[in-house]
Amino acid sequence: MPVTERLYYSDSHLIEFEARVVDVTDRVSGWTAVVLDRTAFYPTGGGQPSDTGTLNGARVVECIDDGDNGVLHVVQGAAPSRASLVRGRVDWSRRLDHMQQHTGQHILSQAFVTLFNAPTRSFRVLEASCQIDIELNNPSTEIVERAVELANNVVWEDRAITVRNVTSGEAAELPLRKEPARDGDLRVIEIEGFDLTPCGGTHAYRTGEVGMIAVRSWERAKGLTRIEFVAGTRALADYRKANKSARDVAALFSTGRDDVPHVAAQMLDEHKELNRRIRALEETVAGVEAERLLAAARDGVVLQVFDGRDAESLKKLAHALIGHPQTIALLASRDKDTARLVFARSADAAGDMNALMREACAMLDGRGGGKPEMAQGGGKHVEKLEAALTHALTLLNRAS
Ligand SMILES: [Zn+2]
Repeated sequence: MPVTERLYYSDSHLIEFEARVVDVTDRVSGWTAVVLDRTAFYPTGGGQPSDTGTLNGARVVECIDDGDNGVLHVVQGAAPSRASLVRGRVDWSRRLDHMQQHTGQHILSQAFVTLFNAPTRSFRVLEASCQIDIELNNPSTEIVERAVELANNVVWEDRAITVRNVTSGEAAELPLRKEPARDGDLRVIEIEGFDLTPCGGTHAYRTGEVGMIAVRSWERAKGLTRIEFVAGTRALADYRKANKSARDVAALFSTGRDDVPHVAAQMLDEHKELNRRIRALEETVAGVEAERLLAAARDGVVLQVFDGRDAESLKKLAHALIGHPQTIALLASRDKDTARLVFARSADAAGDMNALMREACAMLDGRGGGKPEMAQGGGKHVEKLEAALTHALTLLNRAS
């Protein structure tokens, strides 16, 4: 006889029970492990998390399967004493949630086998969703949604779910969806006319209790296809969340929820078109600005410091300047803690911009370089920017 009779095997909806305390052991401070002669608490296992609840009012925070030693109820606070009679109560909403996910998994896994001969390799219940890893080589939204469709039809047909206890010999004759994980007598879960699987978990009485099954996403992972799904109350919670996101985004676009993809795509196109026009305008402006700077320049050298201009904009201006013959541009911009420089010359002008840039950047405690015709760089000693430019100009004049 095992130490603990597992009541959840025969009735997954039993949440209140009486039992006698068989053993009590202190764990870490304030936590005690209680073993009972019978329990309705499901311990962590088979991809399904443990139940929680109370034992005589004391909080059961987790249950651990200790094999032949029984089920350990980890109790926080005052634990019942050995040999006493206790009243146990399982948290129903958590149990229902786990049954919906777990039973939903049986149904969805069988749907992938029925339609695509794709068996499930692993299953886990996460915080807000669940995952199965299946042997499906060419997943697509259409394939996944066909399995979801079948699974939900099975849910809405409200088929009976029964437990069959069979010997290993009898099991060998049954068309089980997966190989039993252990030898000896087996507990087989049958979804009427649809699925037959050995399993030790807790399941709904009928498929209708699962409510609905929805796939959130799927991806290829380690040679398998990982499907993230939600069932029952989780599907409703996920719908509420998704609906809120969609409506919040729709409000930003001042449109209806279902029009968002169309409106957002339209706006992105507009955004691209605007960027293209801004780039074109910037070139025109750079051309005009270059004319103005050249008119004020001496000997074809434009030396100018700007505030808060990015490297891209400086380069555009430099290009516009050196489109003119015999021109040298020594341009810089500064903001609070960065100085940027772009030096350039027209093809027919003299001077090594790369060498000048290195010298200037050294003064700014920065780095820079490029080619003899064009170089860029920067540094953090913003206060020395003007001195660095003057230095570059001096070097340039000395060389010519
Ligand atoms: Zn199961």
